[in-house]
Amino acid sequence: CGIVGYVGPQPALEVVVDGLARLEYRGYDSAGVAVLGEGTLRSEKRAGKLANLRQALEERPIEGDGAGIGHTRWATHGAPNDVNAHPHVDNDNRVAIVHNGIIENFASLRLELEEQGCKFLSETDTEVASHLLNKELERRGDGDLPGAMRSVCKRLEGAFTLVAISNDDPELVVAARRNSPLVVGRGEGENFLASDVAAFIAHTREAVELGQDQVVELRADSVVVTDYDGNPVDVHEYHVDWDA
Ligand code: GLU
Repeated sequence: CGIVGYVGPQPALEVVVDGLARLEYRGYDSAGVAVLGEGTLRSEKRAGKLANLRQALEERPIEGDGAGIGHTRWATHGAPNDVNAHPHVDNDNRVAIVHNGIIENFASLRLELEEQGCKFLSETDTEVASHLLNKELERRGDGDLPGAMRSVCKRLEGAFTLVAISNDDPELVVAARRNSPLVVGRGEGENFLASDVAAFIAHTREAVELGQDQVVELRADSVVVTDYDGNPVDVHEYHVDWDA
């Protein structure tokens, strides 16, 4: 339902949880976050209100000085419980992914991945994306998360905003969209992304709206948008002038 991503010098976990709080008005049944630090991916997620996630993070803090992502879920596939909450992480703990929308062809992808030995933990349509990304990164062997995301998106049907971080590059957030919203917030020496500008306008009002079937590569000092083939595309940049 709601998505937030951050890369920059601020503590990613705080920025992301704060961004999720600004999206609470949209309604949700669970929430989760993932951050990168010292080459390790850490995540936490909880059914229920953001307060439950905050409490879990207090009891078992996760540290990270790299990129972070967050999600509030409105379940479509799988009950609203802790396991089905996002982020979803692959079996090698390499990639964390959050998703808004529905991956229509998840059942056949899941069968294929299970045949290749992937162990699924959740009942969601989303989880196929974390395993697909890990497999694609493994196949490429170059840690190219944006490239892997472009390949994976070509295999997905339905509506999705997908946001991923990976151990391969702790200062990078990669996101993609099809039939579901995704907006980048350009900061100075930091960048944001979200399903809705409300998540980041406390930090910046310079927005970049992604078009259909596009992928964004977000670093602290750069925003690169391409189509699913990796070609650069024109983006819609605008200033958000309404108050939150
Ligand atoms: N289809 C996904 C799920 O049920 C994402 C739902 C959402 O957009 O929050 O987990």
